[in-house]
Amino acid sequence: MIDAHNHLQDPRFSGRQGELIQTMKSVGITACIVNGTSEEDWPEVARLATEFPDFVRPSFGLHPWKIARASGDWFEKLRSHLLTHPQASIGECGLDRWMENPQVEAQQKAFRQQLTLALELQRPLTIHCLKAWGVLLEELKNAPALPRFLLHSFSGSWESAQELLKLGAYFSFSGHFLHPRKEKVRAVFKKLPPERILIETDAPDMPLPHPRFFLDQLNHPANLCQIAEELAQLIGQEPALFVKNTERFRLIS
Ligand SMILES: [Zn+2]
Repeated sequence: MIDAHNHLQDPRFSGRQGELIQTMKSVGITACIVNGTSEEDWPEVARLATEFPDFVRPSFGLHPWKIARASGDWFEKLRSHLLTHPQASIGECGLDRWMENPQVEAQQKAFRQQLTLALELQRPLTIHCLKAWGVLLEELKNAPALPRFLLHSFSGSWESAQELLKLGAYFSFSGHFLHPRKEKVRAVFKKLPPERILIETDAPDMPLPHPRFFLDQLNHPANLCQIAEELAQLIGQEPALFVKNTERFRLIS
């Protein structure tokens, strides 16, 4: 199993990553893509990638919630982390109109910069999108070309999914979607082509309804196995499929 999206660098996990990784390995998880969200946590993502090189696949990006606090040279810092880590992907970045005071124009600008960088450096891109599907589609359609890209924890409609499929999108399913009230999201995943589906925990956030693993009140990344089993059953596929898809997504060209 490979976790397509988590935040092992999160301060809530601080000092316990070794223990978390050991538990993940004990249930058959072989790697995870660790997503940085701002200049503040990129050094910790880089540190984890160096300390656990066989397990942590780093990703560096500026999250829409972190744009307001970004420094004037965030983009240069991002580029430098990516050049230091040739195996790293870009993200988590994206567009969010659900947050308070969203500043959509600033978000679009930062998203465009990161998409262009993904093309230039030939890296896959992980996208966060909440209530901004129209803007996202516009950005993607206006881009001169597109990198390989993943809509992490995809909660859009089937209509948006169809448009995104045409553009080559991958979609990841998080444990949060196993909650009974998320029937609409599950219905979309049932219709998606299985070869475009990845699995993620988004740990320490997005907890499952009845998780097997806990760490305080946080979502434990070892719950990926449970997500894989339950999603595989839902769409009538083998869990091994998600591993293959994640490997295809994160191939660095
Ligand atoms: Zn995330």
